Amino acid sequence: MSAALYTASWRALWEGWKVGTLDVTPCSISVVTYPKFWPESQAYPRLELLAPRGIFGVVKDPAEYAARYLDRLERAGVDAITEALRQLREENQDLALCCACYCRDAASCHRTTFARFMTDRGIEVAEWSPPAATQLQMEES
Ligand SMILES: [Zn+2]
Repeated sequence: MSAALYTASWRALWEGWKVGTLDVTPCSISVVTYPKFWPESQAYPRLELLAPRGIFGVVKDPAEYAARYLDRLERAGVDAITEALRQLREENQDLALCCACYCRDAASCHRTTFARFMTDRGIEVAEWSPPAATQLQMEES
């Protein structure tokens, strides 16, 4: 994986962390800041700017939810977002950041709207998954 920036579910990152394959720095962008099932995650950075506060759980229509969040990103501006991410990366051993939310389904998560926003502006964002993710999902089902 060579993208400069990633997105993932907290659970995927946790699975990677448990087996020692975490090659990114998780960065909280969820409204509920850190997952209870992974207390150690509180040591990771957070970018409140990217959390869908006031929209998540309030705007129920998926299309409107994405549009409202996109509007927030546009008002913040790609330069401010990129600079905030650059600073966090610098403060965290220069490992690629992985923006984390709880949603298992990335398609309906604001992290996908964020990834599209960045990709549209020439910054590559990929969904991160731990090397054993496929196997773990099979074991769960
Ligand atoms: Zn989400």
